[in-house]
Amino acid sequence: MSPDPFRLRDPLRARAFADLLARHAPPRPVRIVHVCGTHEITIAQHGLRELLPDGVEVLEGPGCPVCVTSTRDLDRAVKLAESGAIVCTFGDMTRVPGTRRTLAEARAEGADVRVVLSAADAVTIAREHPDRPVVFFAVGFETTAPGTAAVLLEGPPANFSVLCTHKLIPPALSALMSTPPVHIDAFLAPGHVSTVIGARAYAGVAERFHVPIVIGGFEPLDVLYALWLALRELREGRAEVVNAYPRAVTADGNRRAQELLARAFEPCDAVWRGIGTMPASGLRIREDLARWDAERRFAIEGEPEEERPPGCRCPDVLMARAVPADCPLFRTACTPLSPVGPCMVGAEGACHVWYRYGGRPKL
Ligand code: SF4
Repeated sequence: MSPDPFRLRDPLRARAFADLLARHAPPRPVRIVHVCGTHEITIAQHGLRELLPDGVEVLEGPGCPVCVTSTRDLDRAVKLAESGAIVCTFGDMTRVPGTRRTLAEARAEGADVRVVLSAADAVTIAREHPDRPVVFFAVGFETTAPGTAAVLLEGPPANFSVLCTHKLIPPALSALMSTPPVHIDAFLAPGHVSTVIGARAYAGVAERFHVPIVIGGFEPLDVLYALWLALRELREGRAEVVNAYPRAVTADGNRRAQELLARAFEPCDAVWRGIGTMPASGLRIREDLARWDAERRFAIEGEPEEERPPGCRCPDVLMARAVPADCPLFRTACTPLSPVGPCMVGAEGACHVWYRYGGRPKL
């Protein structure tokens, strides 16, 4: 039986967790980083930061797939659309600023850019337009990548291809811990990614960097429970992977999804917007599926990396070194209607979430 969601939002239990958090907080400032826009939404929407003891900070790192898609990849998608291909992607991606323009702006000038909910939708469009190239601009982490893999392995039509920018979470955690200055004491790992990769997938990171990693669900009490376990580990000097979301996550994850990923993709270095290249943090389409790889099929290059607008703190926000309110453009020059940086575009971007709910609202 699935848990009653209202019990997982019970304010009295949340207060009890606040007491536990206060009792187990180490006697020093602590920074816990999550890499998941859905966690940020839960934390901000339910005012969970108000329940944290003094000195305990929770920040969002590179957890929004839209925010971390590099300008180079975005520019490639724009160029493909401008060259006559039908470019299909998720809604938020059409609004992310590239070097010259967004996909939505390219569409306004006549390019054929379509919003889809899945790779399978893009295949349907390819079947409907056999005389035109149809490119699926694939973004997202281990949660969306199996859907792209399944489509590639099913043998889509010849006019279909994938511009693959899928990224992997565990290598991103390693890169965050390897890029000085590092101010991360523990990770709250994303529940949905973990359903695919399994709890064991984080063991190497926890061990190598001696950092606690607690996998958390998405209801308010899920998050508080996971934070409590992270604080307890820190206080006791442990650095283990703990699965605080066992109703959805197992030690080994979803073997079928992992098999699809392994058959369709191989790991590659990937550029994360605002961060740079992270080793083995991306997925590239395997050689035997190359005929559906837009990168191999079309000669498309991105523009040189853009200059950041003056004052923009997106790289610091994506590296969990700043919160949105630290950016001078937040809520002034940069809003969801007029985003300056990618963190304000995606519904899971830290700046977008803070704009909607506020980062530290009173309960
Ligand atoms: S407020 Fe805008 S410019 Fe500043 S960090 Fe956020 S997205 Fe980037």
